[in-house]
Amino acid sequence: MNLTVIDHPLSRHYLTVLRDRGTDPQQFRAAARGLTYALVFEATRHLPTVEFVVETPMEETKGYRVENVVAVPVLRAGLGLLDAVLQMVPDVRVGFAGVARDEETAQPLEYYAKLPDLSNATVLICEPMLATGGSLSWAVDKVKSSGATDVIALCVVAAPEGVARMYEDHPDVQIFAAARDRGLNENYYIVPGLGDMGDRLFGTT
Ligand code: URA
Repeated sequence: MNLTVIDHPLSRHYLTVLRDRGTDPQQFRAAARGLTYALVFEATRHLPTVEFVVETPMEETKGYRVENVVAVPVLRAGLGLLDAVLQMVPDVRVGFAGVARDEETAQPLEYYAKLPDLSNATVLICEPMLATGGSLSWAVDKVKSSGATDVIALCVVAAPEGVARMYEDHPDVQIFAAARDRGLNENYYIVPGLGDMGDRLFGTT
């Protein structure tokens, strides 16, 4: 369907570190980075490449270049994935989408958006916790209304509710996650999940 759960010993290891309530923010950020490498590797498998001739020290041969990728972290938790994306994706440009969650209704409230030119770009939206799907769906609306046609979502944990909502709203968007969890609790947090990703990344409560 619209969800690919990556399964790799390293992603299982880093996800476990993220889930562990005893992990401190420094370790949490490092584990988020390690997990994102695996996510990006899988999520970019079908990126288009531009062919060109490269000169090795011996002779000319065929070369390939990845271009025109834009990462859009959904603030603030999406910042936890950005570092690894910047390291892995050549010449990636970055847009920002700021959305807060109304704690009572779990509806997304936009507070900031700054996007580069998205024409012909592949857009990687970084939204680690796919809970109700409201924020991710909002972010995809935002990039599509700025011209994006090829959108991929990078998540750490996905709840079935969010995956279903995304399938309804944006069936063309493929979601990559390290786990599909059981569901949401009464406060719309993912269970078993890993708690509040932003708080755990940045040491807030
Ligand atoms: N956002 C989080 O940080 N955690 C959840 O479980 C759900 C949304």
